[in-house]
Parts: sequence; C-alpha cells; structure tokens
Amino acid sequence: MFELIGRTVIVTGGGSGIGAGIAAELASAGYQVAVVDRNAETAGRVAEQVVAAGGTAMPVVADVSDVAAVADTVAQVRDRFRTIDVLVNNAGFARDNHILEMTIEDWDTVQATHLRGSFLMLKAVAPLMSAQRWGRIVNISSISALGDSERVNYVAAKAGVEGFTRAAALDLAHHGITVNAVGPGVIPTAMTEVSAARAGRSLEEHLAAQAAQIPCGRVGSPHDVARAVQFFIAEDADFITGQVLYVSGGPHG
Ligand code: NAD
Repeated sequence: MFELIGRTVIVTGGGSGIGAGIAAELASAGYQVAVVDRNAETAGRVAEQVVAAGGTAMPVVADVSDVAAVADTVAQVRDRFRTIDVLVNNAGFARDNHILEMTIEDWDTVQATHLRGSFLMLKAVAPLMSAQRWGRIVNISSISALGDSERVNYVAAKAGVEGFTRAAALDLAHHGITVNAVGPGVIPTAMTEVSAARAGRSLEEHLAAQAAQIPCGRVGSPHDVARAVQFFIAEDADFITGQVLYVSGGPHG
C-alpha cells in the first residue's frame, strides 16, 4: 500500500491519456485521486487500476462544462475524501479544421470544455481551498497556445487557458492557492490518433515525423507531463504561481 499523504486531487479527463497518467502517478505518490471524466467506463477503469496498484481513487462521471455536474462532482469527492487540495484541469479534446471550414459548433464545444470547464471547476473548489488557506491548481495547456494551423478553436482555447491561469493566480495568491499551467508538446494519446488520421498518416508515421522535429528526438509521455504537475503541486511550491511550463522536448514560449 502506498503511504497516504492526506491530500486529495481531482484530475479531470482522468479516464484517458495524459490525465490517466497523472492520476496513476499522483496516486503512487500518495494522493487520494478523484478520476473525473465524462466517459464512465474509462473513469471506472483508471480508478480500478489505481486501487489494484495499492492507491486510493474514486471515479466520478461528469462533463466539466456542465454546472450541475461540476457541483455534484465536488459533493461526491468531499463525501468520500473530505478535502479537495489539488485540481488538475486536464479534460480536453480537439476538433481541428481550417478556419474557413470550422463550424460554430466546433468552436463552441472546444471552448466549453477547455475554458468554461476549467473556470467552473476552479470556481467550485477554490472556496474550499481558500478556507484551508492551501490549494494547488494546474491547468493543462499545450504548445499549440503559441499558434498552430487548422485548429483556431483549440489554439484560442489553450491561449485562453494560459491567460486564465495568470489572472486566477493573481486573484487567488492571497488565499494560499497557486495556479499554474503545463503545456505539453506531442504526447501519444487518443488525441494524437485523431491528429494522425487527419494528417493522412499511420500513427507510427505521424509520431516519427513529429519526433524528427523535436530537439530531444522523441515524443513525450504522460509521465513527462505528470512530472511537471508534481513540481507545481509540491507542499513547498507556494512561491511559484501564474507560470506556464512547456513540456515539449525543446524550448517553447
Ligand atoms: P485523451 O483524449 O486521451 O483524454 C482526454 C480525456 O478528457 C478523455 O478521457 C475525455 O473523455 C475527457 N474529456 C473531454 N472532454 C471532457 C469534458 N467536457 N468533461 C469531462 N471529461 C472530458 O487526450 P489527451 O491527449 O490525454 O489530452 C489531455 C489534455 O492534454 C487535453 O487538455 C489536451 O488538450 C492536452 N494536450 C494534449 C497533447 C497531446 O499531444 N496528447 C498535447 C498538448 C496538450
């Protein structure tokens, strides 16, 4: 059994890819983990895997862009773990298209999860963190925040997440809550499979082409992102807030 450190973390989009990796690594570091995802099956599976490995986790099924679902999520996590100390706003997806082909629905739905979802989750947990004068919030951005073609909705959402991070850090600094962002580069997940298909390449070809562009010579992994999340949520990281850390195998930003 892992040694519990008594801190509770919510990982949104924890049922897959980067979020699942963060959930597993934080559980093995001793955190109690709420795996929040709109996909019930994958959220349940990730929570089961954490528990099977000796950690503490619960699945919560919720769409983070839904106000009632977010309130219910926080209530469920408090019922089970009493506190909420760390929030990782990771839920997300892309709906890529050239700007002239992009539908309004593709724009709205991407903003709704990345921006509205991050805001709703923060608003729901920050009062609890403020009451205990301790909290850590990490928003998952992307190097795409710096600009990328044929995904104006996603780029705008991630640039928005970074602005949201800086502004929220200012508002919450006096409450003992830090707010930071991690901006991954290429991390093979379900999202990358969609990008490969859109580029008309097999996943292997796509990843090889991407790796060739990355100074470190490889694509990343959920572990690389989890490592940066752990840096920001450390007990003594209270002087580090409003920052964006790109985890992309080379310099960005
Ligand atoms: P993924 O598709 O493997 O996982 C995303 C998870 O989020 C899924 O389980 C999905 O069900 C969940 N989700 C999506 N919308 C949701 C909503 N409204 N409410 C609740 N759950 C929701 O993708 P991933 O690559 O692991 O992406 C995780 C995060 O990392 C995203 O924010 C993504 O933008 C970001 N990111 C990914 C990469 C990459 O290369 N994979 C790079 C940079 C940033």
